[in-house]
Amino acid sequence: MTKDSKLDYLGAEVDRLKAEYVRAKERVSACASELDRLRADVDYYKREIAQLKSVIASERQLASACYSAGDHYSAKSHSCNIQNMKPRLDSLYDGKQRAYGPVESARARFQQAVEEKRRAGAQLSAAREAFNARLAEVRAERSREQAKWHEKRCKLCGATIRYHEDWARVPDTCKSCREREKLKWREKPCHGCGRPVRYNVEWAHPPNYCKDCKERFTKSG
Ligand SMILES: [Zn+2]
Ligand SMILES: [Zn+2]
Repeated sequence: MTKDSKLDYLGAEVDRLKAEYVRAKERVSACASELDRLRADVDYYKREIAQLKSVIASERQLASACYSAGDHYSAKSHSCNIQNMKPRLDSLYDGKQRAYGPVESARARFQQAVEEKRRAGAQLSAAREAFNARLAEVRAERSREQAKWHEKRCKLCGATIRYHEDWARVPDTCKSCREREKLKWREKPCHGCGRPVRYNVEWAHPPNYCKDCKERFTKSG
């Protein structure tokens, strides 16, 4: 994998935004459970009120039935029951009212958390898109670069030689052949002047004299 600093940066951005999105999701669920809890409080009062109201309604029916039947004493006792239940009903209404208060702000917090999660999600997918776009670029660059590498055969051993088309000099022989060929070149002192004479061990008749000495002999000879 080619190191690409822009790709690294975009990858880190994706990770950062992913973590932010996870946090936003957690906030949404925390706000949702808070909202549920507050709504359950309201529901508790609603249920209690409905139950008490139905008891009051049946007491009221009984009172009027007793009154119609001429049983004023019982009718009064039912009316009394109703009066005794009134404070409880009032306090339940108060409780419901109090329970409603925090629901509104909790709902606002929940909606804000949902909005933040949406925004974090949009940022995350934009970051992922940018990362994928750069990744595609990097891959295209890499395959363009790879296409500049070619192969040929070593003219000595036939081994594969990989070379880049931008190289100024493309070798005809592989590295191990070049090393081997280099070792065949030796030096020995010129018989005339003692300066080093280069020769190849494969030559049948390595020279005994350097070029200068040989020229001198040719002229004088
Ligand atoms: Zn070779
Ligand atoms: Zn010489």
